[in-house]
Amino acid sequence: MIKLQVIGSRANWSKPFKNKKIKKFTSCFLETDKKFQIDAGNPWDKKKINYLLITHLHQDHIGKIQTYPKETIFCLPSKTFAKKMPKGARTLLLKPNSKIGNTNIQPFLVHHSIHTLTYGFKISYQKTSFIWLPDYFSPFNFSVFKKTDYFFLGASSLKRDILHPGYLHGQISILHFLRKLKKRKISPKKRKIYLIHLGLSMFPLKEKISWLQRQFPEYHIITTYDGIKINL
Ligand SMILES: [Zn+2]
Repeated sequence: MIKLQVIGSRANWSKPFKNKKIKKFTSCFLETDKKFQIDAGNPWDKKKINYLLITHLHQDHIGKIQTYPKETIFCLPSKTFAKKMPKGARTLLLKPNSKIGNTNIQPFLVHHSIHTLTYGFKISYQKTSFIWLPDYFSPFNFSVFKKTDYFFLGASSLKRDILHPGYLHGQISILHFLRKLKKRKISPKKRKIYLIHLGLSMFPLKEKISWLQRQFPEYHIITTYDGIKINL
């Protein structure tokens, strides 16, 4: 079993939240035979972690890496990430199929930014696998999504793609991405798609999720929130 706990579930909002307790940025804690965290946009919450996986170098994913303890091993899907790690940090360059303890970590490249390479992770342990993908416009290859139990997908926007100047990078809306998966007949084996990296247009959440669910009855769409514990 993989124990996953969402630390934060929001995208990079331009406005501060009214509720100060809400964590600003998306990241999660994972426990298999090792303790992992994915991304470090929020300050370290004192939970013991052995390995910190980094998806990309945007501030909402690495902004607080300086607050993480010295013993942490920073796992980098690209060696270009090393320059942004804290001085003296222990780093581990992930291969296309890395094994840490008995946990398989497969970083995969996605189209998101022209300034930083951006990755998702497919993580497998014992008989369970899931994909964690907070920021993306499009994956370079959809085959990584096949034969996977669960998806955790960024929902920075509900219906409208977020395109940055020059249209060379940005975020696809969750509506458009789920349509792409459906067109390719790709579904998580357990049907469950958890939404992370929630943008402003995903709120009010209950209303927007039930609308999205009606568009895709074949998937079971579930939202995440700070602190939610999910056993996979
Ligand atoms: Zn982000």
